[in-house]
Amino acid sequence: MKNIKVFCPGSVANISCGFDILGLCLDNIGDEIIVTEKKEPGIELELTGNYKIPNDINKNAASISAIALLNSYKELNYGFKISIEKKIKPGSGIGSSAASSAGSVYAINELLNRPFSKKELINFALEGEFACTKSYHADNIAAVLLGGITLVRSNKELDIIKLNTPLELFVTIIHPQIEIKTSDSRSIVNRKFEISKVIEQSSNLGAFVSALYNEDYDLISRCIHDIIAEPHRSELIPEFRNLKEIAISNGSIGFGISGSGPSMFSLARGPEKAYFIKKELEKHLQIKKINFKSYVSSVNDEGVKII
Ligand code: ADP
Repeated sequence: MKNIKVFCPGSVANISCGFDILGLCLDNIGDEIIVTEKKEPGIELELTGNYKIPNDINKNAASISAIALLNSYKELNYGFKISIEKKIKPGSGIGSSAASSAGSVYAINELLNRPFSKKELINFALEGEFACTKSYHADNIAAVLLGGITLVRSNKELDIIKLNTPLELFVTIIHPQIEIKTSDSRSIVNRKFEISKVIEQSSNLGAFVSALYNEDYDLISRCIHDIIAEPHRSELIPEFRNLKEIAISNGSIGFGISGSGPSMFSLARGPEKAYFIKKELEKHLQIKKINFKSYVSSVNDEGVKII
C-alpha cells in the first residue's frame, strides 16, 4: 500500500489591501499530512500534533475535501487514511484549516497519479474551507495550492491568478495564543461601505499588484492599508495598535491582520530586517505578558509539497 507525506503550509490571507482576494503562502510554518492507501474504500482520519481538531470525517477539513475529491473520481476498491500532524493552531488566522483542506487533496491526487488539475483541487479544498468558515473563499487555499502570492478574481468561477513575488520579500508572523474563529470575525466586518472607501481599497489593491511586478518595495509600503476589516477586527487583537507602530517604526513596509486574526503579519525587505522587527515585537509582548508564537518566513513559491 502506497503512502505519501506532504508539507501543508500556513498562509496569510487579505494582506490588508486585498480583503477576501489576496493570499500569500508561508515557507516554514505548516502542518504535515501522511496519506496511506488502505484496503477498505473510503476515508479514515488519524490525528497527531498539539492541537485539537474534529476527528469526525464529516467535520474535519482534510477529510471533507478528500471526500469531495473521491466523489468526483471513479469508484475505487480501496481507500485512504489521512494522518494529520497539526502544528498550526486552529483559529490562528494563518490558514490552519486551509493547510488541511489543501494538503489532503494534494496528497491523494499525487497517489492517484494526478487525475485532477490544481484548479480542480481548489474546488475540492473549498468544501473543507466551507465546513470551517461557513463561506466559500479560496484566498488561503489558492495560495497554499499554487504557492507564492495569489489573487482570487472570482470565487464563483474560480478565476485565480498567481502574481509575482519580489525576491527580497520576507514576512514576520506574530501569533498571540488566542483563538478567533473566522466565522465570528467575519460577522463584525461592515457590510456597507461609502464609495470613497471602496475607491481607496481598490486603488491600493491595484497599485499593490503593480508593485509586486515592479518589485517596488516603497509602493508596496504605500499600499498596505486595510479599510475594510482592520478598523473592527483589530479590536479583538490585544496590543494591535502598539505592535503596528513598533513594526513600522522599525522598518516594516506593511503591518496588518493575517486573515481574520489574531495572527498579525509584517512585510520587510530582506531577512535581517524581518528578524529585527520580530525581536522588537517580541520585546513588547513579553512586557505585556501576552503568550505568542513568532516566525520569519520567505514567500513559499512552491506551495504544498511532498517531503
Ligand atoms: P484558521 O484561519 O486557523 O484556519 P478557521 O476559523 O478558518 O481558522 O478554522 C478553524 C476551525 O476549523 C476550528 O473550529 C477547527 O476546529 C475547525 N477545523 C476543522 N478541521 C480542521 C483542520 N483539519 N485543521 C484546522 N481546523 C479545523
